[in-house]
Amino acid sequence: MSTLDIRDLQASHGQLRAVHGVSLSVKPGEMLFVLGANGAGKTTLLRSIAGDHRAEAGSVRLSGVDITGLAAHHRARSGLALVPEGRRLFPNMTVRENLALGRSTSREGPWTIEAIYEAFPNLAKLDHAPAGKLSGGEQQAVAIGRALMGDPVAIILDEVSLGLSPAAVDFAYDALKRVRDMGIALLVVEQDLNRALHTADDLMVMCEGHVTLHATPARTSLNALAAASFGHDE
Ligand code: ATP
Repeated sequence: MSTLDIRDLQASHGQLRAVHGVSLSVKPGEMLFVLGANGAGKTTLLRSIAGDHRAEAGSVRLSGVDITGLAAHHRARSGLALVPEGRRLFPNMTVRENLALGRSTSREGPWTIEAIYEAFPNLAKLDHAPAGKLSGGEQQAVAIGRALMGDPVAIILDEVSLGLSPAAVDFAYDALKRVRDMGIALLVVEQDLNRALHTADDLMVMCEGHVTLHATPARTSLNALAAASFGHDE
């Protein structure tokens, strides 16, 4: 069974339809990447799944349970975590304090700050550092750790590598792969087609709110992904 199952999701901003009936599913321990040019509808799709933006139609199921009607915080309590674009850490608080903010009051999971440090030894060294002083990759890893503190079954991440140096992207991706190995379902929005092609289990390209390509990395290419981003076949 899929962890995350989206059917025919549709969402708009006023008169503008940003997401036209998108369907996708992500299994435990699988990473699905959503690609596409600026304005393709990726962020609106993620926010509609997380419940931050109201979908007009379609359904969101988490571990087989329909959560479409739930508010964002109830979806989070059901096990769906969102790491938004820009990560939204508190820059003056330490790594430990930022991680503690992710602790769920309603879900009893295995995650403590010590368990996060065990899973991500690179973060342990930064325990007392203010989040604002970290590199972008380290901040992304803290945001992923904070999401884990809520004991999610699925994590959705927006613009993982935006604004990061190549070394920082490596750091963030290392954290993502560890999360995948824990059996958590990952839905990731990425602008870097090459990175996605080399990491994903499954790939989806959006253009003007539509899915223009959906394939495994073995069955597609960089050229095909680029072409689909602009709405035409290779
Ligand atoms: P980007 O990579 O630039 O963030 P995206 O693929 O995430 O792009 P969205 O941000 O979901 O795309 O935008 C989809 C469409 O909805 C675009 O045409 C955008 O201009 C429009 N849009 C997004 N947010 C709003 C908003 N708050 N109000 C009005 N229109 C919006």
